[in-house]
Amino acid sequence: MSASVPPPDVIRRAPKALLHDHLDGGLRAQTVIDLAEESGYAGLPAQDAETLSRWFSEAAYSGSLERYLDTFQHTVGVTQTAPALARVARECAEDLAADGVVYAEVRYAPELHVQKGLTLNEVVEAVLAGIEEGVASARSAGHWIRVGVLLTAMRTATHSREIAELAVSYRDRGVVGFDIAGAEAGFPPTRHLDAFEYLRRENAHFTIHAGEAFGLPSIWEAIQWCGADRLGHGVRIVDDISVDPDGKAHLGKLAAYVRDRRIPLELCPTSNIQTGVAPTIEKHPIGLLRKLGFRVTINTDNRLMSGTSMTREMQLCCEAFGWTLDDLQWLTVNAMKSAFIPFDERLDIINNHIKPGYAALKVEMAG
Ligand SMILES: [Zn+2]
Repeated sequence: MSASVPPPDVIRRAPKALLHDHLDGGLRAQTVIDLAEESGYAGLPAQDAETLSRWFSEAAYSGSLERYLDTFQHTVGVTQTAPALARVARECAEDLAADGVVYAEVRYAPELHVQKGLTLNEVVEAVLAGIEEGVASARSAGHWIRVGVLLTAMRTATHSREIAELAVSYRDRGVVGFDIAGAEAGFPPTRHLDAFEYLRRENAHFTIHAGEAFGLPSIWEAIQWCGADRLGHGVRIVDDISVDPDGKAHLGKLAAYVRDRRIPLELCPTSNIQTGVAPTIEKHPIGLLRKLGFRVTINTDNRLMSGTSMTREMQLCCEAFGWTLDDLQWLTVNAMKSAFIPFDERLDIINNHIKPGYAALKVEMAG
């Protein structure tokens, strides 16, 4: 039986799939300090790793998406050279693999890393080289992982078409999709329609940050105008769901569409609490959305700012909602079904990594 909440050590070893993780939100605190020193970056608010990581998570708990996004000036500030980007990408792959992640899509905005003269292509190549190195070193340490990259365009800027073209030009070399991110209110996804139409003509995959700080209109535009394959967060879809006192749920037309079409929700519980979407994990809509059978996935968003990992996000949800290994396997398979890599590779990871991994842990927990 696997009907009890799994202990942290079991969760850590469980195979995981992660669709929503920002490269510039996942640096090791010590790496931020090292890179600042190497590059002469002077603006860091602390000089030792412990104080710095505490500063990041405190700043991120301000309750405002805009202030949360401000913390990125430091992580972006120290990653303006090819070696810095490659190091951060390598460590990202290694850290995720050590956390039991077998499949990850890591995203970042190339346009934020050209302040010291790198071209967009040089940025992309440095990150891909670092990922490749990190995947190889993780695998040789006994942690199998596959990592795909998403290129993000900033929704507040005007480079989305160019970044979309960049994503397509690297799609056979490790880039698996496209995304837009940044302040949501006042910057609807339809501002970037040109990029999304281009991607659809190229048969390319994309997700859109929508329904995080801003509600249903943003989700509706992302799906019905832009044609997003997935929703980055999408958590505000609960605004279109009402629940009777006896627990019966009523879905509005948009929520029903999202569920019927199996549109994946890239939910990020801790991050949402930091930006004020929900007051606690117990009150986070992920519990309700899972119960209603939406295509729910669980994600880290920004591991440094949220002081989190996939293990921690899963553990928090297990404690809050009484989830078991069956729930975690369901979430993980959901994420793999929603991944942007080819179907046969997704099946291979589900059948050869995820299912056997959970089966072994269920036997262990039963014994
Ligand atoms: Zn995000």
